[in-house]
Amino acid sequence: MKTLGAHVSASGGVENAPVNAKAIGANAFALFTKNQRQWTAAPLSGASIRAFEQNCAGTFSAAQILPHDSYLINLGSPEAEALEKSRAAFLDEMQRCEQLGLDRLNFHPGSHLGKCSESECIALIAESINLVLAETKSVIAVIENTAGQGTNMGYRFEQLAGMIEKVKDKSRVGVCIDTCHAFTAGYDLRTEKTFADTVEELGKVVGFNYLKGMHLNDSKKELGSRVDRHESLGKGFIGIDCFRFLMADKRFNGIPLILETPDPAIWADEIKLLRSFEK
Ligand SMILES: [Zn+2]
Ligand SMILES: [Zn+2]
Repeated sequence: MKTLGAHVSASGGVENAPVNAKAIGANAFALFTKNQRQWTAAPLSGASIRAFEQNCAGTFSAAQILPHDSYLINLGSPEAEALEKSRAAFLDEMQRCEQLGLDRLNFHPGSHLGKCSESECIALIAESINLVLAETKSVIAVIENTAGQGTNMGYRFEQLAGMIEKVKDKSRVGVCIDTCHAFTAGYDLRTEKTFADTVEELGKVVGFNYLKGMHLNDSKKELGSRVDRHESLGKGFIGIDCFRFLMADKRFNGIPLILETPDPAIWADEIKLLRSFEK
């Protein structure tokens, strides 16, 4: 069975995210466990943690929840100060996930900012993951593929595999594939054949055992444009068929499939549409 939802608001407290997810008929969701545009946040209160658990109980288990880290974090930064700050912030995010009983944390790998090579950046990202895993117990670090906009790393499946290769504890590293990012990074998903080829390549280069989540987004930009602009399903350059193929493919069962499409007012309809494609 597919577990399907959206990146819902946690405004007013993390405990509101499962409530917002239920309201759109989701059986999975993503959330920020703190304000994604700030470096620091107050620790989660005991009351907030308990309310989160209560609101998830019976509907959302850890494998149906894909928390996302702050956009400020750059685990591959070639600048010492920014790297240190990013690693500390990422550790805090991992600890917040542990406190909430979550088992995975989705993040954008990092950017070289034109100040080091791609392979040096990949090594820094892997080192960051190793450092943070050593200081936490259970949460899986889930690397998201990127569109390759600017100097963002992770736009080729080989780069994701390169990061995983350097992580010591392979049981605590995974990937999240965003359809919009893959498409604008140059992986075609529009026809049955191109979708199958891209998924096969993912399996071969990275491995499905590492797949811990998907972001389901159409794209406002064209194939290979390396620009990250999400669009509602079926309204962009990818088109609806990609999501039809994905929903019929059992390799995407049992992981959170998360909409990050731009119109929250139609998330419930998008979920219904996706459900209708499930076989
Ligand atoms: Zn995404
Ligand atoms: Zn994106």
